[in-house]
Amino acid sequence: MRNAAVPTLLPVYNRIDIVFERGQGSWLYDRNGRRYLDFGSGIAVTGLGHAHPHLVRALQDQAARLWHVSNLYRIPEQERLADRLVANSFAETVFFCNSGAEAIEGCVKLVRRYWWARGRPERFKIVTFEGAFHGRTMAAISAAGSKKLTEGCDPLLPGFEVLAFGDHAAIERAIGPDTAAVLIEPIQGEGGIRPVPASCLKALRELCDRFGALLVLDEIQCGMGRTGRLFAHETLGVRPDVVAIAKGLGGGFPIGAFLATGEAASGMTVGAHGSTFGGNPLACAVANAVLDVLLAEGFLDRVRAIGAYFERRVRETCAALPEEIAEVRGMGLMLGIKTVRPNTDVAAELRAAGLLTVPAADNVLRLLPPLTVSEAEIDHGCAIIRDTLGARPV
Ligand SMILES: *Cc1c(COP(=O)(O)O)cnc(C)c1O
Repeated sequence: MRNAAVPTLLPVYNRIDIVFERGQGSWLYDRNGRRYLDFGSGIAVTGLGHAHPHLVRALQDQAARLWHVSNLYRIPEQERLADRLVANSFAETVFFCNSGAEAIEGCVKLVRRYWWARGRPERFKIVTFEGAFHGRTMAAISAAGSKKLTEGCDPLLPGFEVLAFGDHAAIERAIGPDTAAVLIEPIQGEGGIRPVPASCLKALRELCDRFGALLVLDEIQCGMGRTGRLFAHETLGVRPDVVAIAKGLGGGFPIGAFLATGEAASGMTVGAHGSTFGGNPLACAVANAVLDVLLAEGFLDRVRAIGAYFERRVRETCAALPEEIAEVRGMGLMLGIKTVRPNTDVAAELRAAGLLTVPAADNVLRLLPPLTVSEAEIDHGCAIIRDTLGARPV
């Protein structure tokens, strides 16, 4: 007989007791008809808001035609998506998978095979950074290295050297002729919205160039328009060799990818990698629809403008609440507010007042509104922050 004490859902999440029934744009509606302003976007996934008509239509049209054929055959939607990502980025080639962690996993294999194909299989060391989050597979938790992610999962995948965030001397010491690659998030997401200054990312690029190491960027959270360009490294002015994306790419439909230069991908030959579901027609139809919106004339210009408005309004609002908010960081539509009280308590109060945020490490609350957010919605969200946190007796 089933042991009733064992939950039918594996208890790995600490879930909030709300059931959302539908979404529209920046808003979510729960079972009781209560509405919430969604400044979490399912952790930077629903970047075009909920139920975007163009995405809904793309999914419905593709669903009525063809769902899946496997990568035994050509998939025109996948070819088109790759062509468009290449045409709009540094990359020359793309591999599609189903999630962020899988994209990182693929990047690790690409790096190892790059050096293996050059006759240097011993050159496998990948430099990573404390506070990083790269997903939950063994390679991804080994890369990030934090105890919170790896506890109980030993033995980890070897070959990663985790450096302190922002320790330039350690970085200079660690990167050398044995370094295979550097893996870094241009803006740490789970780590608490910690942006890497453009000057540091440029210095990393130069170190990689000096020794021939590959620069691999995890843009799974900060990419797909969140900083007002398709990729955060464009905003920061740095050219990578490899980039992992996922989250916003499918607008809520699961899809991930890694993008690479032809040179970086030179070890990835027939049989080197694969995925049953990766790049299937449904996922690619939706991701193409996401690109239709993101690449439309003027869309990213508007994201930059609304991102600047968002940053200004959030900074103003938080500056007036010094007892509650210690710091605001990040850029554009990817901001973090470091709260004085426990971030989850503050998140619960904001949620009760109708505003959804996402807690991160370092006692930060992430504000990740959809790229389609309006000025009025930003004003509404800031008013909730002001009224909820300003009303507390100090
Ligand atoms: C979410 C995230 C991942 C992992 O993506 P999954 O789809 O959950 O596997 C990896 N890196 C970063 C920066 C992320 O934000």
